[in-house]
Amino acid sequence: MQRYFVDPEQFHEREVEITGDDVHHIVKVMRSETGEEIIVCDGTGRVARVRLSELSKELVRGEIVELLDEQRELPIRVTIGQGLPKADKMEWILQKGTELGAYAFFPFSSERTIVKLDEKKEGKKLERWRKIAKEAAEQAHRAIVPQLLSPVSYKQLLKEFEKYTAVAIAYEKEGGGKLSDVLPTLSAGDSLLVLIGPEGGFSEEEVRLAEQAGAKSVSLGPRILRTETASQYVLSAVSYHFE
Ligand code: SAH
Repeated sequence: MQRYFVDPEQFHEREVEITGDDVHHIVKVMRSETGEEIIVCDGTGRVARVRLSELSKELVRGEIVELLDEQRELPIRVTIGQGLPKADKMEWILQKGTELGAYAFFPFSSERTIVKLDEKKEGKKLERWRKIAKEAAEQAHRAIVPQLLSPVSYKQLLKEFEKYTAVAIAYEKEGGGKLSDVLPTLSAGDSLLVLIGPEGGFSEEEVRLAEQAGAKSVSLGPRILRTETASQYVLSAVSYHFE
């Protein structure tokens, strides 16, 4: 069954309203008719089987047939702190990371960041990135759309650590711990922030600062992964460990 996300305020007690691009998809692409059923999620975890009752160019309405109790989310909420990579890599990270169950993405710039986000274009870019996450969440049958937080500087990022149960910084140089040491310390409901460096990696000073702020430095295995691969490794490992 096709799945769509709506804003929580469009998800009422007995019915839902769908507006925007999804209307076109339901009416024109899927050529749906009243009486047909779809799945609608409010993006915060409510999921319902919905029977279409009204179709127009601007609005689709449907009655909630039943609320569904689907378990699709990783038991721990994993936020990927991603050092801003070049152009389309971020889109790839968002799409695949959403499929693999990331709870949120937190882009940041650091010493070796190559792309600098242009403040004027930032809004548009974030909007596009959010759309990618939404579509990936629909296709992965997620109950939530991962949050995309606004990009911050490394210094600002360090101040966010206290909001998470645990923080890890992925660092490829020897001497740190392993992801497999951190995961067993967590249990269902906990939150984990994992920092992934941009293409050029983290400087030693940045790793030191992260550790000082409470992060554990972890290896993701003996091979050097590209920045866009590292988060996939982390999310797969979390799924393997907890699911
Ligand atoms: N320092 C290298 C590699 C950077 S890889 C260079 O200068 O080219 C980009 C990021 O992916 C790293 O900052 C790190 O966060 C993560 N990463 C890649 N492979 C890793 C590994 N084997 N262990 C831990 N982190 C890794």
